[in-house]
Amino acid sequence: MKAESSGTPLETQLRNCSAPVWIQLGQAFDGENVNKDFHLVYSEREILYAGEQTPPAELVKSGQQDADLLLPNHTVMPGLIEAHAHLFLAGAERDPSVRAETLKLDAEILLAQAEARLPRLLRAGIIAVRDAGDKDGVGLALQARYRSNRGVPMPYVDSPGPAIHHKGRYGKFMGEDMEALGGMEAAVADRVQRGAYRIKLLATGIINFEKGAVTTQPQMSAEELVAAATAAKGYGKQTMVHCSGHSGADNCIAAKVDTIEHGFFMDRDQLAQMRDRNMAWVPTFAPVQFQLDAPECIGWSSQVCANLRRIIDAHSRLLQAAAELGVCVIAGSDAGSHGVPHAHGFFDELEQMERAGYPTLSILQSATSRSVERLGFDQAMGRLKKGYLPRFILSDRPLLDSVRHLRSGATVVFDGHIFSGGDDAGQPGM
Ligand SMILES: [Zn+2]
Repeated sequence: MKAESSGTPLETQLRNCSAPVWIQLGQAFDGENVNKDFHLVYSEREILYAGEQTPPAELVKSGQQDADLLLPNHTVMPGLIEAHAHLFLAGAERDPSVRAETLKLDAEILLAQAEARLPRLLRAGIIAVRDAGDKDGVGLALQARYRSNRGVPMPYVDSPGPAIHHKGRYGKFMGEDMEALGGMEAAVADRVQRGAYRIKLLATGIINFEKGAVTTQPQMSAEELVAAATAAKGYGKQTMVHCSGHSGADNCIAAKVDTIEHGFFMDRDQLAQMRDRNMAWVPTFAPVQFQLDAPECIGWSSQVCANLRRIIDAHSRLLQAAAELGVCVIAGSDAGSHGVPHAHGFFDELEQMERAGYPTLSILQSATSRSVERLGFDQAMGRLKKGYLPRFILSDRPLLDSVRHLRSGATVVFDGHIFSGGDDAGQPGM
């Protein structure tokens, strides 16, 4: 048995282990529960054993009595799942005018920039991304690349292709209007034909921060959302719906869409209805929190900052209510939005959920097993469990005490590849 105190970095120790690798850890979060004195046996292809008992002899190397590595001071948990990111955009760019220019770049350049983000996501421990849409085919290209399995490690990616919106309403930068194709059903059919994994709908506009409210009427009626959800279901697809504002949420609830993204200005009664209809909520605090933390980037006045504070506080209370009511909450940062870098923004989101009063263990569930299981990923991820993909995080920091310990210092195992060192938030491009 190689002791933890041997002095070599964990990454090297893991590389020196031959498959199947058997590690014994002080603590584990298996995607749902906390376990003490945990054994994990894995190959490059799958987890062979995970549990508190000594693994069966037939799953470890012939004659092996003890773990390859004993890590009593380490915690292991499944890799993280970012459930709302726009991979085609760098969120780290804070200058709005530079950001506006980025949106005009050719699709090939946007794709190349997005590809460069993928290994950095893995190093940060993010093993899967539910892309939230782009008009340039970047997300669809990355989804296809993941599935072509060329042996280059990259996070799981699925994409809705271009979001569906109404001509002249919010969303042109990431979507295509349904009028171009003659209506909702045709737009859904078009996205499916282009390979969309799920259907992204823009049910409302965005928050008017100067007024501190959503000031436009929802862009999609309940009837339109019912038509979209019905069409999507007919193709076996989920619906992920951008929505802020009370009346927009009512429309989404009437249509029983799969997820409400953002969901600012909802109320407790709406959350209860979401729970009863098995709808999930992805709160995405990060883009609003950024504006509150760095108002100078947009030139916000103290009055707007007061609005932002009020919006974040109300959203925090809503998250507490979701915990009390048992609503399915899923962690997604809206990375790629202004001021929300990929990876770093996801850690910001998790920390914001914690500050809002959402329990740490629930946040970890919302970023692993709950995400995979509610969002319909077609690969076994998000749990430390026999038969699941071997994609997990090891850290000697107290991961289960606070999500802030996830931000750095972890070693990531991903299908036999090993990464450590995290990602540098100071580096541009994310
Ligand atoms: Zn988004």
